[in-house]
Order: sequence, then structure tokens, then C-alpha cells
Amino acid sequence: MFSTVARNALRVAAGATVIGTVYYVAYPWTRTQRKDKILVVGGGTAGVGVAAMLQHEGMRNVTIVEPSSVHYYQPLWTLVGGGAKKKENSVKDMKAVLPSNTSWIKNAVKDIVPSENKVILADGTRLDYDYLVVAAGMQTDWDAIPGLVDGLKQKDSGVVSIYDYNYCEKTWDTFQKLKNQAATYLFTFQPVIKCAGAPQKVMWLIEDNMRKDGVREKADITFCTPSPAMFGVQHYSDKLNAMRERKGVNALFKHKLVSVDVPNKIATFEDIENKALVKKPYDLLHVAPMMSAPDFLKRSPISDDDGWVDVDKYTLQSKKYKNVFALGDCTNTPNSKTAAAITAQAPVVVHNLSRVIDGKEPDGAYNGYASCPLIIGRDKVLLAEFTYGGKLAETFASDTGRWPFKYFGTDGEIQYRFFYLMKEQLFPFVYWNLWPRSLWYGTYGPLKPVVGASDRKGN
Ligand code: FAD
Repeated sequence: MFSTVARNALRVAAGATVIGTVYYVAYPWTRTQRKDKILVVGGGTAGVGVAAMLQHEGMRNVTIVEPSSVHYYQPLWTLVGGGAKKKENSVKDMKAVLPSNTSWIKNAVKDIVPSENKVILADGTRLDYDYLVVAAGMQTDWDAIPGLVDGLKQKDSGVVSIYDYNYCEKTWDTFQKLKNQAATYLFTFQPVIKCAGAPQKVMWLIEDNMRKDGVREKADITFCTPSPAMFGVQHYSDKLNAMRERKGVNALFKHKLVSVDVPNKIATFEDIENKALVKKPYDLLHVAPMMSAPDFLKRSPISDDDGWVDVDKYTLQSKKYKNVFALGDCTNTPNSKTAAAITAQAPVVVHNLSRVIDGKEPDGAYNGYASCPLIIGRDKVLLAEFTYGGKLAETFASDTGRWPFKYFGTDGEIQYRFFYLMKEQLFPFVYWNLWPRSLWYGTYGPLKPVVGASDRKGN
């Protein structure tokens, strides 16, 4: 009986795989084949995903400009800092990740000249385009906090950060050296940052490891943030704050790290409310560095006054240039800057760009979706999902979720462990194997969502 059921299940699975594969391979050839020159600036998370989807929609002339020879899966750095993964798992050769059939120009864009449909590369080469998709990410301004770079470079300084491939391991190594002695741990945050949850995720991972090792009472831990709350969305902030109090972690709200005195191990904060400087000694100082728009965008006509690409927050089309789109960390859309957000943005960009090529107005709308798997322990994740304005959009909740996931629930031991498995196992697999092949659409999994006139803006 069991073997019959198993055999039939296998037949169905094999059948579905064959049909899925034939559909996937044949689909691009059912689309109008387009030769328009599409230039994608940046081969990070957004550039790779959007280029793959453009190809899948029949665009045959897609070129990516990307200076780096390696590609990072940045969300893994949090787990590296918490001792759960090796940093080598977070990097691959750029060539292995860029979608096949796209051309790669290994260079940096120095200037964009949208009035002439041109970009100028660092070596002076000029490239024409018909359509431009900007996906250049955020720039990390390591030098903006005096003392930080010295501290990160010195082996025993206690200054660490998961915001860089070269430093993320140091967080875990420093904790290993400190854990058996009385020590002060400061975890800091900055107002402009990608993955706003990461600075506290690594703190909760380390805190839980202290408990596992029976050394928690030796540590004095403080979360220091310029914000008045633990997280930007009240629903999650309340949960995190209750957990913080329960776990005996101190909070220093409305305090922004401004400099690091490496020899004396003292961090200086600006007390935002009282406009005063506050000095705090540390043994381990985890720094979320300052970030901004990439320099070449700061001087570009497609950007706003702060340097972010100025796009309509729903259509992701440039407000000034109809043939320019942007997505990912480099835009001025008021969403939380995460890879998860990009899985919702990329199909919208591809849909709207196709319409512009056809001489139509964009009608697809990105609703501001972002997700942040908030690691709250060694094997637990609180899955935050929300749209513009911090409106909850939880895939697994009964009121906001989609069938059948809505019956699973969001809070509880089983749920937290399942979400952790997604973060640790599923998402890295998806990122390296499905995302660069246009086989992943975020909360829709491998199924391409319908984007278009039915989109209700802001939902
Ligand atoms: P990037 O992936 O940074 O890519 C930008 C690319 O543009 C780079 O390859 C760069 O070389 C290139 N570029 C820059 N300048 C130029 C130029 N002048 N010309 C051409 N190319 C250029 N997201 C989640 O969803 N979940 C998480 O749990 C999560 N955790 C995170 C933890 C950490 C520690 C960090 C750092 C990030 C995390 N994120 C997470 C955020 C996520 O990684 C980013 O939001 C995402 O990678 C942004 O993609 P992007 O393509 O916009 O930028």
C-alpha cells in the first residue's frame, strides 16, 4: 500500500518536473524576441536577478556592467558572525553567478549621461543604451567613523563588523576569546543601513551562544541605536523589546556611534536628544558602518539630492527619464533595503520596462514589500514581512497570508525553527541556484507572479 502511494507520488513529482522544465526552457521563446540594448549597472543581488528575468522575457541584448570579479551573498555574513556558517559559503566567482547569455563588461560606471542615453566607464569607454536599469547597491563609508578602519584591521582591538566579507569572521573569533571573562559588548546601529535587522541579529546569536556555553552572566550587553525603538515596524519592535528586557540586554536608544578610540577601547556616541557626547568602554564593539548612495550616483542627473536614484516608488521608473529604471539598495524608495525586497521589485521592473518598449505606460506596482528574518537565537527566526508604511504582509499569518501558508502561523517554537531553517538552508540554496536563473520570485517561490493593471498601489 505504502509503496504504491510512494511510487505514484514519485510519478507525479517526475511528471511535474518534466512539464516544469519544458515550460521553463520554452517560455522565453514564446515571448516577442527583443533586440533593444538594455544596460544593467551592477551585478549584485538586484542586477543578477533582474538580468535573468529580462532574458526570460525574451530580451536578447542584456549587458551587465560590474567591476567586481566576485559576488557575495551578504545575508550569510550575519550567520558567519554568529559562528553558524563559514564565510567561504558567501562568495562565488562573478562569472558563475551572472545569468548565461548576458554580456559582462568588467568595469565600473563613472558617469551616466541620460540625455544622450550613454554611460561613461572608469576607463573612459562610452556605452550606448536604449534602456538603463540601475542596480548599483549602497556604498559603505567605513571612513565616516574615525577610528573604525584601524580598529577593524587590528587583530585584538575588539572592533568587529559583519558588514564586510573580510571582517565578518572576526565577530565570532573575538567572542570566542572573550567569552570566559567578564566583558562589555556594545552592538551599534546607523540610520541609513541595508538590512536594518542585521546588527541585532548577530547580537541575539551571540547572546544565545553565551547561554549555551553557560557564560551569559559574565557579559554586559548593550544595543546602541540612534532610533527610539528596536525596529522600524512597531509590531516587531514591541516583540524585540520585550525579549530584550527578558534577556537582560541593555538599550541605549537615540545614541549614534561617532568615533572609536581604539587604543583605549572607548566608543563615543552622540546623544541625539541632548546633543551631548557620551563615552562607553567596550571589550567587543560591533559596528554597523555608515552607508550612502554610491559616489557616481551622487553626481548623476538621475539621482535625488542625497544621491539615491530618484524613481516612482511604485513603478520603479526614473521620475525624469522614461527609459531608466532602478531597483535594490540604490533607489530612494522608502522600503527596507533587503534582498527580499528585490525579489518583489525585479518582476515589476521587467514588466514595466517591457511596456515602455512597447510604447505603453508602466502599470505594474511594487508595494514596498520587504522581509527581514530576525534571528532571535541560535536556531530561531522571527520572520518580519511588511510593505510601505510598515503595514504587515506576513506570508504565514492567517489575516495576511496566502493559501495554504496562512495556516502555518508566525509565532511559536515550530514556526521560529522553520523560519531559521529557511534562513540558513533554503535561502542560500535559492540565491545561488534559482535566483540567477529567473526561477525565484520571493513569496511566490518559483511561480512568476502576475504583475500589471490589477496591482493596487500601496497594498
Ligand atoms: P549589491 O548586492 O550590494 O550589489 C551592488 C553591485 O553594484 C555590486 O556588485 C557592486 O560591485 C556594483 N557596483 C557598485 N558601483 C558600481 C559602478 N560604479 N558601476 C558598476 N557596478 C557597480 N537581505 C535580506 O533580504 N535578508 C537578510 O537577512 C539580509 N541580511 C543582510 C546581512 C548583512 C550583513 C548585509 C550586509 C546585508 C543583508 N541583506 C539582507 C541585504 C541584502 O544583501 C542587500 O539588500 C542586497 O544585496 C542589495 O542588492 P543590490 O543589488 O541592490 O546591491
